[in-house]
Amino acid sequence: MADFSSMKRRYRLIVPDDLYRRLDHHLFPGDHDEHGAVIVAGIAESKSEVRLLARELFLAADGIDYVPGKRGYRMLKAGFIADRIAMCGTERLVYLAIHNHGGCDSVQFSSDDLRSHQRGYPALLDIARGMPVGALVFAENAVAGSIWLSGDRQIELSEIVVVGRSRRRLTAAPTRQVSLSSPVYDRQARLFGDLGQAILGRAKVGIIGLGGAGSLIAEYLGRLGVGSFVLVDPDRAELSNLPRLTGASRWDALGWLASEKSPKWLQQIAFRLAKPKVLMARRNILRANPSAKVETIIGDFLEADIAARFTDCDYLFLAADTARARLLFNAIVHQYLIPGVQVGAKVQVDRKTGEVTDVFSVVRPVTPESGCLLCNGLINAAKLQEESISEQERRGQRYVDDPDVIAPSVITLNAVAVSHATDDFLFYMTGLRDPNAPTSFMRFHPRGRQVWSDEPRKSPSCPECGQGPRSRLARGDARRLPVIERTKVKTAEATESGIRLPA
Ligand SMILES: [Zn+2]
Ligand SMILES: [Zn+2]
Repeated sequence: MADFSSMKRRYRLIVPDDLYRRLDHHLFPGDHDEHGAVIVAGIAESKSEVRLLARELFLAADGIDYVPGKRGYRMLKAGFIADRIAMCGTERLVYLAIHNHGGCDSVQFSSDDLRSHQRGYPALLDIARGMPVGALVFAENAVAGSIWLSGDRQIELSEIVVVGRSRRRLTAAPTRQVSLSSPVYDRQARLFGDLGQAILGRAKVGIIGLGGAGSLIAEYLGRLGVGSFVLVDPDRAELSNLPRLTGASRWDALGWLASEKSPKWLQQIAFRLAKPKVLMARRNILRANPSAKVETIIGDFLEADIAARFTDCDYLFLAADTARARLLFNAIVHQYLIPGVQVGAKVQVDRKTGEVTDVFSVVRPVTPESGCLLCNGLINAAKLQEESISEQERRGQRYVDDPDVIAPSVITLNAVAVSHATDDFLFYMTGLRDPNAPTSFMRFHPRGRQVWSDEPRKSPSCPECGQGPRSRLARGDARRLPVIERTKVKTAEATESGIRLPA
């Protein structure tokens, strides 16, 4: 069972923005009165923090579930609480009771509130069978929270982060203004402010795949001043992908060994010793921002230990195009409430005639509530099957005849998709995004100079993004991710020499 004992870790609540909008509307309908609700949340733990992941919202009907209190002004009715807390005990979720006060930019519990916590929470903890329980009080732009752990220990909630279409932070009182750290960012800070620049500096971004698209994503995010990265890719530089990797030289691919004039065995050595793509990306990021923290993993995103390193990011970029990677990325977005985007470019060629039939770039934002890659038919079941069966063999042969490797590919096609995807990230993180902007997938067809936008569907019964009792949504660490089974896998940390070392 999870141990929530460390008092040093901060507790945060992550809330999808649709859920937050419904709650906000319920608490502040304009009547200046007090209202109540309950959120049940999954849990994700890391060394430094515990994230509570809002899964479901229950609005307490005024006069029925939220009634005049015996000691305080109003209270949640016992039956309303009992149903929710029993559910939390069986489903391993955290119970959070909610009400609002007046005021705008700061809020705190009243002495009545605190007394009622003292009276009620020890008993609730028992019914919740070891899961934390807590209370939140909202003002229009602020929230304070208190989380109770077994043994009558209490921890203050440090903030709520609203994720999805637009990102917001709510704290108990306004945070102090930041001053601009470096003149380097003067021009861009004029767009999104010193605070926006500070937000980018604190952001942790995961990039899955550091080929053509991923290399550009790393470059752009490094230049923007993003502070923290996790990069994964199993591959090394090759002569044929140098035209699409930013900052790459023939040295990276050991060009003098790898050229076609070299004997086959020398080409194989070059293939094995060339620079890993994650290290090339790190080099570019550090050139742009020497203080960035960059974790590099030469390995397979699908392995459990590696996938786990992406579950505490603020944003994910999927730039590796396999069905398995799509499935796992999609699962992390929903299970851990981390917004992300899938980017790619495709040149379709008729296998028989060799003629180019279609050329396009795609940007598909995937947020916890907008509909997912699975319910939009973008995870191909046959391809999933094929990849699972022959994954090992494919890897052994990929140098010679993997169709992915020899598919046509051009830097400009990647750049179109990556520019839009990183723009989305930038406007989302810094709060410049119009909160009502559509979440559509975008396709760019350079041949006809056409831009298409596809509205994602959302299936309420989807096992990934749906609200059904068995869905993955906001389950956090309690649910297994769709990673690959391997008996003995050593995760590896990339080193400058490119040698894999056990972590
Ligand atoms: Zn109160
Ligand atoms: Zn779905």
